[in-house]
Amino acid sequence: MAEKKIVLPHHHGNNEDYIAGLIPENNVISAVSGALKQLGDPSRLRIFWFLNHVEECVINISAAVGMSSPAVSHHLKVLKEAGLIVSRRVGKEVYYKAADTELVHSLHKSIETVGKISCPSDLPEE
Ligand SMILES: [Zn+2]
Repeated sequence: MAEKKIVLPHHHGNNEDYIAGLIPENNVISAVSGALKQLGDPSRLRIFWFLNHVEECVINISAAVGMSSPAVSHHLKVLKEAGLIVSRRVGKEVYYKAADTELVHSLHKSIETVGKISCPSDLPEE
């Protein structure tokens, strides 16, 4: 694929070639934008954050976040399609947890940084 050279119209004595090359590819931006959009819903954000610390079934997630199972199921489907969580079936039960990706780890830490909350995973075991 041929790289399209970006030329900045104004010259301020900076390295314009370097600056123009900083803009990420559209597919990268789309992936990040899509993930952030899915987490723009407070309920989904709460479920996503919860699943960064535990692997749980729909019933227990519903009880933990105080929402109905159908509502939680809907959010889980969206989060899974966005690649933010994964599921595992054991018999009749399906368990959900955060995907083990760099993006998910980064979003997990971002939520805790922005929300000024401690990561339960960093606390010493009882
Ligand atoms: Zn955490």
